Formats: sequence, structure tokens, C-alpha cells
Amino acid sequence: MATFNVLLLLAQAAVYFTVMMCLLRARRVLGIGVFMCALGVMHFLETYLASVFYIQLPFGIVSPGSTVLFSGKLLMILLLYIREDALVVRQAIYGLLVGNFLIVALVMILRNHDTVIVTGGRVPDIGFIDEIGLLMIWGSILLFIDSILIIVLYERIGNWFGRHLGWRFLICGALALTFDQAGFFLALHYVTDAPGYVFLGGWTAKMAAVLVYTVLFVVYLKYFDNEKVWLSNRPLRDVFHVLTYRERYHQLLESSVRDHLTGTLDRSQYEVRSPQILARNLKEGREVSLLVIDIDHFKRVNDRHGHQVGDQALKIVGRLLKENLRSDDHLFRVGGEEFVILSERLPAEAAVSMAERLRRSIARFSKVYLPETVTVSIGVSSAPADGTSIDDLFRVADRRLYDAKGAGRDRVIGPAAAA
Ligand code: GH3
Ligand code: MG
Ligand code: MG
Repeated sequence: MATFNVLLLLAQAAVYFTVMMCLLRARRVLGIGVFMCALGVMHFLETYLASVFYIQLPFGIVSPGSTVLFSGKLLMILLLYIREDALVVRQAIYGLLVGNFLIVALVMILRNHDTVIVTGGRVPDIGFIDEIGLLMIWGSILLFIDSILIIVLYERIGNWFGRHLGWRFLICGALALTFDQAGFFLALHYVTDAPGYVFLGGWTAKMAAVLVYTVLFVVYLKYFDNEKVWLSNRPLRDVFHVLTYRERYHQLLESSVRDHLTGTLDRSQYEVRSPQILARNLKEGREVSLLVIDIDHFKRVNDRHGHQVGDQALKIVGRLLKENLRSDDHLFRVGGEEFVILSERLPAEAAVSMAERLRRSIARFSKVYLPETVTVSIGVSSAPADGTSIDDLFRVADRRLYDAKGAGRDRVIGPAAAA
């Protein structure tokens, strides 16, 4: 029976991993929201299972909710971070936290109802609802800390295991879930006086889960994806700042020469700063990407609606670009309706995906503020592959921008390898 339970758990992990990885992989087509919603929905099931659903395994009693679903979710959050960046993953992290608190708040109001019985004498189990509410609050706070912890650990141990993605994944998964199990057991022990072996059984199961997921991940990398595109190196402090929304504060502090219309750094700042930024990163062996962003048919916007609306459009585009920057990105307005973003430590593939995000965000939100939709075309280049001087990078990105214009505008063109 216990062996059959192990097989069932493995089947759950395989199904969970396969479906979530498909959603992650297809995020360019489906949008990352599909992945995030699926993750959020699973969270409720796992809290319910963790409070009532336990099974016997050879080494003890475990909860599939914690073992398969919770461990899986934490690792999915890490995968989302590796594949996108802190800016994207923090949406899931904060969304889960707020969503869980919202559920508990609503339940606290709901439980005051005088309910009527309509379905075969079934009555709501208020005691159970309260218990699950407690678990949910503690679980969400833990998950929040776990998520930040696992990402920070992942970056931290990158110095030692940089090229070995499987090991990095395994080690930070094991550490974060050990922390989680200790935190969860503490609450359980405090509330229900749970004995020590519950900790050990759950911990063993979570470690086994990390191992199984790592194997699935390594198999996935080997047969379905290119490991190179998963390797990135981001500075720990900046990642932490973004995860805790502190980078906005740092951006505020940095007040320098700004273009008065859009509040971005102007052309003279581009000329002074960008060669220094590039040189510093190349010396340390880091990749740098450059995006040239040009508004499509901007003359037409001016002609149709007047210069004031044109200026308004420039402001909106500048603002949307700024709102989507990481702390390692530098935005300049280099021409009338032309912007450059210089991104430190950003490989070509990640730069193209960032450019895509910017392009979509502008196309989507400009129509909220302006009389017509404004779109941009973006050319992307990366050092050292496309050149090692800022002029070379600009030239290559600018040529790709013109290819994008020629191909019909409202699109991103980067290095062929990053497409
Ligand atoms: P496309 O880039 O898609 O090829 O077409 P476009 O119409 O945007 O072409 P181009 O980049 O050559 O045109 C730039 C226009 O931007 C020219 C000018 O009318 C307008 N422009 C430049 N600076 C400003 C500004 O500060 N305010 C306003 N309102 N318009 C500006
Ligand atoms: Mg132009
Ligand atoms: Mg233009």
C-alpha cells in the first residue's frame, strides 16, 4: 500500500511538472498570466490538502498537498524567476500573498452569516474553516519568505555552482524547503502539539520531492530545452531590491540631468554614461544589451492630433518604459521620439523578452491615455556578440530597428540566435 502511495505521488509530480512547464514554455504565446493563474489556483487545493489529507509512506506519514503541490509551487516560482526576472516573479509572489489574505478576510465576514440548509442536511464546518484560515495566513507568510529566500539563495550559490543548473536547483530547493518545514512545524506544534516525527516525515518527503523535481528539470533541460538560455547572472542586491519593491526608492534618489518632457536622462547623459557602463561590465565579463526604441508613425500622430497630443504620447511612452525597468537598466531619450535602454548583465535572449514586454505594454496602455494606440518598434543588440563599443552596439540595434520598421512596425528584432 505504501509503495502504491509513492507511485501515486510520483504520478502527481509528473503531471504537475509537465503541465506547468508547458505553460512556462508557451508564455510568449499564451501570456505569463496563464502560468500565474494556474499557480494561484493550485495554492488553495494544497492548503486544503495539508489540513486534512495524509497518507502512509515507507518512512512516515506525509501530506501530498505539502509534498507535491507546495514543493512544486516553490520550485515553479524559482523557474519563473530564472526564465524571466525578479520583476515578473514578484507579481506572482505578491499576488499569492494578497490573494490568500483576501480569502481569509472574506471568510471572516462570511462566517457571520446565518446559513440555511438546502443540500441534504449538510452544514458548513465553521471550525474547519477557521483552522484552514489560520493555516492559510501562516502558510502564505511562509511562502512569501520562502519565495524570496529561494531566489536569493539561487543567486548566492551561483558563484559556486554557476554552470551546474541542476545542483543549484537542488540545493536551494532543499534549503528553502527545510526552512519552510521548520516554520510550518513550529506553527503546527504550537497549535496542535504535533510530535517531532511529523517534522521528520514531512521533511523527508519534501527532500524527496525536490529530488524528483530536479530530475524532471534536468531531463527537461537535456531533451526539450537549451540549458544555456537558462543561465543568467544577476547581482544579488539588485534582485533583492526588486523583490521587495525597493528599486523604486533607489530610482527616486537618483536625480540627475533629465529631459524635461519625459523625465528620462537626455542625449548628453547617454554619451557620457553609456560607454562607462559598457566598459565596466565588459571588464567583468558580463553581457550588456542595448535597445533602440522608436515610436511608429509618430509624425502621423502629430499631424492628426497636434503637437500637444504628440508630446503627451512621448510622456506616456517614457513613463511606460520607466515603469518597466529593472535597477540595472538605464533609459535615455536620444532623439525626438527615440529612446535607448542600456541593460547591464542582460544576455540577448532576456533582452529580447524584455523588449517584447515593453512593446506590448506600450501598445496596450497607450490607448488608455491617448486618442489612438501608439506602438513602438525596437532593435536589440548585445555585447560582446554584436560589438564591444557603444557605437557598434547602437549601429547594430539601429539597423535591426529599421528592419523592424520595414517588416511592418510594432515589433522587436534582436540577434537571430535570441529569436
Ligand atoms: P516611423 O518611425 O514609424 O518610421 O515613422 P515616424 O513618423 O515616427 O518617423 P520619424 O521617426 O522619422 O519621425 C519623427 C517625428 O517625430 C518627427 C516629428 O514630427 C516628431 N517629433 C520629434 N520630436 C518631437 C517632440 O518633442 N514632440 C512632438 N510632438 N513631436 C516630435
Ligand atoms: Mg525616429
Ligand atoms: Mg518614429
